Amino acid sequence: MKAAPFQYHDPASINEAIELLGRLENAKILAGGQSLMAMLNMRYAQPDHVVDINSIADLSYIREENGALVIGAMTRQRDLEFSDLVHRVCPILHEAIQHVGHRQTRNRGTVGGSLCHLDPSAELAAMAALHDATLTMTGPQGSRELPFKEFALGFMTPALEMDEILTTIRIECWPQDHGYGFLEFARRHGDFAVASAGALLTVDAKGIIDRARLAIGGVGAVAARVELAEKTLLGKPPSEATFEEAARACRSLDALDDIHAPASYRLHLAETLARRALAKAAVKLKSGGES
Ligand SMILES: Cc1cc2nc3c(=O)[nH]c(=O)nc-3n(C[C@H](O)[C@H](O)[C@H](O)COP(=O)(O)OP(=O)(O)OC[C@H]3O[C@@H](n4cnc5c(N)ncnc54)[C@H](O)[C@@H]3O)c2cc1C
Repeated sequence: MKAAPFQYHDPASINEAIELLGRLENAKILAGGQSLMAMLNMRYAQPDHVVDINSIADLSYIREENGALVIGAMTRQRDLEFSDLVHRVCPILHEAIQHVGHRQTRNRGTVGGSLCHLDPSAELAAMAALHDATLTMTGPQGSRELPFKEFALGFMTPALEMDEILTTIRIECWPQDHGYGFLEFARRHGDFAVASAGALLTVDAKGIIDRARLAIGGVGAVAARVELAEKTLLGKPPSEATFEEAARACRSLDALDDIHAPASYRLHLAETLARRALAKAAVKLKSGGES
């Protein structure tokens, strides 16, 4: 099939794009096009106007600011993959991005496009959940910030107004000596994951876990932290028994049930991947966080 007819717009600045989005009826933003083009061609989306934000150079950057990684929404996934800064200050993001599609899709696909598309299995959404990323949206009324948890309203539903653009993603970096582990199960490398798990750990001087994060993607309608598992980890040594106990919390997730996998299988994967991601994070702890 071919896309239904639409009018194409090519703004050169954020202000110009917002003015267009505020004025035009039934407009859609085009970023990397790796999800939108398919939706247009299948006629799942039939906008009257497509606002292409690829010419807005101000939306593409990766920098470190006050202990956080700040990423422009139009940053290509491939740039994230090859960023020395990302590798150094947020190594789990470097690991996770390599599971996103294929190098051809990462060449065009953007960080912001993935978060706005909000597929439940998207690795970048899982990373945003894991780090409690802060997202900045800009519209005619100015800019506002939302934590990822409030941005991800439900199945493929971001908290974005029709006239707003996601501009910035801010990820707080963990201490240099933290442990991290990302794992996913996909039928073939490059496919969307059936489920994924990301874990971050730090230990105190006695080797006891004093900070823990666990996020699961692909299981619920949106990628999310498993706070019960995180609480279970605190105050315990990073051992197999601790990780097994914490991973059991994944059994209570509200799992999707569709043609790709029944809910029971997704829950099994969540628990298994969580346990293994935590174990992987513990190994990184012991090796001083080096990848
Ligand atoms: C073969 C293939 C395999 C893939 N495998 C994976 C995978 O394993 N994991 C994965 O996570 N993804 C995968 N993807 C999807 C890919 O990561 C896309 O890049 C991503 O979903 C969308 O990003 P995009 O920049 O292409 O956005 P687009 O397709 O241009 O846009 C997607 C949606 O977001 C909106 N949007 C985009 N940017 C903004 C913005 N800044 N502000 C407001 N709204 C915005 C658009 O209007 C549209 O609704 C795959 C895609 C293909 C084609």
